Amino acid sequence: MTDDIFENPGLSTLGVRAGVHQTPELENSDPLYLTSSFCFKSAAQAAAVFAGEADGNIYSRFTNPTVRVFEERLAALEGGEACLATSSGMSAILTVVLGLLASGDHIVSSRSLFGTTTGLLQSLAKFGLETTFVDATDSSAWERAITPRTRLLFLETPSNPLTEIADIAALAALAHAQPNCLLVVDNCFCTPALQQPLALGADIVVHSATKYLDGQGRCIGGALVTRADLVRDKFFPFLRAAGPSMSPFNAWVFLKGLETLTLRMNAHCASAGRIAAWLARQPQVARVYYPGLPDHPQHALAARQQRGFGGIVSFEVQGSRAAAWRVIDSTRLFSITGNLGDTRSIITHPASTTHGRLSAAAKAEIGVTETLIRLSIGLEDVADLEADLGQALARVAT
Ligand SMILES: *Cc1c(COP(=O)(O)O)cnc(C)c1O
Repeated sequence: MTDDIFENPGLSTLGVRAGVHQTPELENSDPLYLTSSFCFKSAAQAAAVFAGEADGNIYSRFTNPTVRVFEERLAALEGGEACLATSSGMSAILTVVLGLLASGDHIVSSRSLFGTTTGLLQSLAKFGLETTFVDATDSSAWERAITPRTRLLFLETPSNPLTEIADIAALAALAHAQPNCLLVVDNCFCTPALQQPLALGADIVVHSATKYLDGQGRCIGGALVTRADLVRDKFFPFLRAAGPSMSPFNAWVFLKGLETLTLRMNAHCASAGRIAAWLARQPQVARVYYPGLPDHPQHALAARQQRGFGGIVSFEVQGSRAAAWRVIDSTRLFSITGNLGDTRSIITHPASTTHGRLSAAAKAEIGVTETLIRLSIGLEDVADLEADLGQALARVAT
């Protein structure tokens, strides 16, 4: 913040103002430091900064002023001590795992995850990092899976694509009952505008900034938010050496996204809630998955844990994969793409795209069926989205 008049600024204020470091040019919008390295006044100063005895930027793989503004702003929004920006959401998750764990350590993870996250955790087995996957909504399954070697509990809530809700506070208590176990929450679907996992007891929040933080489908990036000592001692040294750093250009784009985050999330929630209720009344629709619907199995938990129900709605059409593809191909306003969290509404067939690499058994276990369609509701007029889905659904049998 440029001043400290406000002791407890709201999220919209933080989204616009947090982390600002105005230069002597007195610019009003954040500057973009598009530079790979930084200069020193003397050889002695270079030596002191390299040795860590003086503050200063060295090289943009390590630190960059534009990236730092993004980090400070996201840390403020999540209510965390420190943030580390990364090149993608996946590299944020990789940084958490490789920065903290060693061969022989164990992870317990929700089985309902972004498909690539499941694949990444499975692939770590060859380095001696085993993951046990459990039903995110079943606290006793988490408890049974924990062993003395368990160092991380990992989850997304709401999950992708079925919007299952995990109880963050209950799982934080479970993690902290172990001597050396942390809870990691992927907060991609809610963003801090709707849910602050750290305040509920989580230790680390990870983000794909690619989604709602950008919000306009432009750049790939990620971040983790956690305690300052973990960033300093575990995650920054990994980033500095391994190099999954955020580009300053992308950080600048994400800063523009954060300025409108609360406004956009409120609009996504309002439209998604209306679309979900409308879909539930359509004869071609067999089932709707949206935490805001009263018949969602974790509706009460979502209402307690989140400030809004989010912009992602999934549903099953009557019939087969052909019917689902027919609906997808018949929409005109929805983009057929695997991304989410964009101003443009998006329609996706998870079983053949985002979750296509999972085995048939794994898909069946997590409920990703051939008739499932995922919607990421954008910022178009909701009446137009309803009309478009209506004409697309009319092309399949009831
Ligand atoms: C997209 C996504 C990721 C991965 O992020 P990238 O920026 O694509 O690397 C991780 N988790 C969730 C929930 C996602 O939707």
